[in-house]
Amino acid sequence: MKIVILGPPGAGKGTQADFIIEKYNIPHISTGDIFRENIKNGTELGVKAKSYMDKGLLVPDELVIDIVKDRIVRDDCKDGFLLDGFPRTVAQAVSLDAELDKQGTKLDKVVNINVDSSILVDRAVGRRICKTCGATYHIEYNPPKVEGICDKDQTELIQRDDDKEETVKTRINVYFEQTAPLIDYYRAQGLLLDIDGAQDIKKVFEDVVEGLDK
Ligand SMILES: [Zn+2]
Repeated sequence: MKIVILGPPGAGKGTQADFIIEKYNIPHISTGDIFRENIKNGTELGVKAKSYMDKGLLVPDELVIDIVKDRIVRDDCKDGFLLDGFPRTVAQAVSLDAELDKQGTKLDKVVNINVDSSILVDRAVGRRICKTCGATYHIEYNPPKVEGICDKDQTELIQRDDDKEETVKTRINVYFEQTAPLIDYYRAQGLLLDIDGAQDIKKVFEDVVEGLDK
């Protein structure tokens, strides 16, 4: 099972990714993780990637593609993989298709977790974090016992700058603008599995499984 997972920030993509890799017994290939691993191990790719990141620049497509190619030819990927964070652009998707074609294979499905922007904003803006233990709360959906105070260690909860309304809206808009062409690309190939991500996480996963097993 060769799968790509897409979803806007805050849609619960990470949770669904965890469920998928466990059920289908395939590796979770997160480009963020691969970058960190390559940088930590000082590989040639890692050194190159770091030179861009240190300057605050985006790592160029060709380098991202090389890093992913290098990862998906490893032994643990022979029965499939779940790609997360890649591809981000149509150019990357085309390269991935070409690489898989060379290996005589192709993607099986692209899981697209859909959640309305207004719900994503609501989820993020209500989030509160404990700086001491890392616990997360939501003022409406998962409130602490005492308002503004962590249940575990009584630390005062904070709202991260990342979760402020304007920042969240910008992040979500950027995602939808960047990803729209990619979604069209996969939809045209008949690979897109649209999932309603606003439901309970268990129901979301049932829909994912139903779509993947079809
Ligand atoms: Zn705490």
